[in-house]
Amino acid sequence: MATQEETFKKIVAHCKEYGFVFPSSEIYDGLAAVYDYGQNGVELKNNIKRYWWDSMTLLHQNIVGIDAAIFMHPTTWKASGHVDAFNDPLIDNRDSKKRYRADVLIEEQIAKYEDKIQKEVDKAKKRFGDSFDEQMFRQTNPRVLEHQQKRDALHERYSAAMNANDLDELKQIILDEEIVCPISGTRNWTDVRQFNLMFQTEMGSTADGAMKIYLRPETAQGIFVNFLNVQKTGRMKIPFGIAQIGKAFRNEIVARQFVFRMREFEQMEMQFFVRPGEELKWFEHWKAFRLKWHKALGLGDDKYRYHDHEKLAHYANAATDIEFQMPFGFKEVEGIHSRTNFDLSQHAKYSGKKIEYFDPELNQSYTPFVIETSIGVDRMFLSVMCGSYREEQLEGGDVRVVLGLPPVLAPVKACVMPLVKKDGLPEKAREILNSLKFDFKVQYDEKDSIGKRYRRQDAIGTPFCITVDHDTLNDGCVTLRYRDTMAQDRVKIEDLHEIIRRAVDPKELYRKIVGDRLEDTEE
Ligand code: ATP
Repeated sequence: MATQEETFKKIVAHCKEYGFVFPSSEIYDGLAAVYDYGQNGVELKNNIKRYWWDSMTLLHQNIVGIDAAIFMHPTTWKASGHVDAFNDPLIDNRDSKKRYRADVLIEEQIAKYEDKIQKEVDKAKKRFGDSFDEQMFRQTNPRVLEHQQKRDALHERYSAAMNANDLDELKQIILDEEIVCPISGTRNWTDVRQFNLMFQTEMGSTADGAMKIYLRPETAQGIFVNFLNVQKTGRMKIPFGIAQIGKAFRNEIVARQFVFRMREFEQMEMQFFVRPGEELKWFEHWKAFRLKWHKALGLGDDKYRYHDHEKLAHYANAATDIEFQMPFGFKEVEGIHSRTNFDLSQHAKYSGKKIEYFDPELNQSYTPFVIETSIGVDRMFLSVMCGSYREEQLEGGDVRVVLGLPPVLAPVKACVMPLVKKDGLPEKAREILNSLKFDFKVQYDEKDSIGKRYRRQDAIGTPFCITVDHDTLNDGCVTLRYRDTMAQDRVKIEDLHEIIRRAVDPKELYRKIVGDRLEDTEE
């Protein structure tokens, strides 16, 4: 059995080999934490974006989209708090010269205590079998209690230090917990310093006074500054949402784990504006909706979990992450935040404009509260890749590498293959391709043995292979081969369209999310 680390390496290599993800400017040895999407990657990414966009703007009559510019007036970032507070605490190890996020080092230490507890529980479970009472064990086992007590104490101390922005205390915690650098193995740490994550550039020529501007570190602010524009021109009534997909930039201190943490990435964010006092109800609503959206893809319900935030951002009164089980542990893919009226109030304050909504039902004006759902396209991409990649041991010793992608997201939906390159089979295959190509992304492949061609499609996650043989010319039927089961059916050419449509139609997923309310999704 491959370790999780080996599996992850294989997935990264697979992404490159099959045209999903390449290192940026690779011929110059790449650029750290920046990646390019290849011919299959871009299709998968676009399908993810479409699934998200439509689940927001088609399923909800009261959600509309925008596409704001990446450059924004610099005061935006003063108002949002990013200039002053968008920092990570960094710490260097003097021996390895490696840089770390102090908060991440401590969180990993907390996770270590949790792992120890879990190990005790698993051991006892094995020993006692069916009669095992886990709750009782957790409450009474001395070793579990000891780990739990250490974990809780550390957690409390860490939360207090983060909330107070106490950098000396963060360093002290690292020293007291005897956390070592994984590279050098030493505890030779520098002090903890704050580091602002925003990239800066200049607009205009220096001669006429260039203006310092930032590459946006999140797409959300483009929505907030357009709140009045959209509300007025779209005659939107509260509650309503604004959705956006776009690039964001963060000068991450530690950029590891492939597309999980990049310096240039893409976000899909939706800000939902509600009446003050109703925000926690909507927070729960979006929390549930977003998890259903993930689970509908069928990668396995047990791969997701919520993680409620200990430390709330300066603007939030509730926050949770949806985490996915990556090969390197459960990791945040999406954040759902109750942002109060912080952003709109700040923009009102800094711009001097009144940013309010007149509620005709209440007959009063107020600054709406906001629930945000924010998901990284690239992290979503990675979770889909990790959740789909598998190696199957076949009879005869062969290994089959399959990307079991949800058909809705697969870059290529079907591949048409003539059994041989002659006797009119290629022409027939092209005819079939032409009948499908306007509705589905379909490939044509006539090179190598049919087995090899199947494997190539398995590796990029194509749900269907359509093989044209000599009989096809007489009976109008083809062999349809299914990716997951490798089963083969003889089907009529005219039935192909419907078979593929049923498998890749996002409507089936939307039904899983909102039940039969497809026609009636007004909030
Ligand atoms: P983390 O704690 O992992 O740094 P975050 O809490 O700062 O993430 P948010 O500011 O809530 O992230 O951003 C929302 C979403 O944007 C995240 O859930 C993630 O999917 C994505 N995201 C954030 N930073 C990055 C990054 N550097 N690379 C790729 N995706 C990112």
